[in-house]
Amino acid sequence: MGKKRPERTARRAAERSARQMVRDREKLAALSPGGSRERPIAVESAAVIEVRAHATPCPQCEGELRVNEHRTDAGLRVVAVTCNRCHAKRELWFKLVSNEPN
Ligand SMILES: [Zn+2]
Repeated sequence: MGKKRPERTARRAAERSARQMVRDREKLAALSPGGSRERPIAVESAAVIEVRAHATPCPQCEGELRVNEHRTDAGLRVVAVTCNRCHAKRELWFKLVSNEPN
């Protein structure tokens, strides 16, 4: 049975390019503000973090993100979010910067 069915080959190619697109979007998301620990979004108070997370569209489908949990990592705030539309999970990074004089 060495003969490949053409529709299967076409489907595989489509699946491959869809996966590639997802990877590209993830790569792009990691380079955008809040996408990684190297690129935290600067916020003045912790109260703003959820607002900013909500305002950030899902990089895969531009759906709204739901905040699951907050944690602290090496002085940065990390929120775990899930897209309400495509259910992709990701993390957004924030850095608290104080406006008060030292
Ligand atoms: Zn999404």
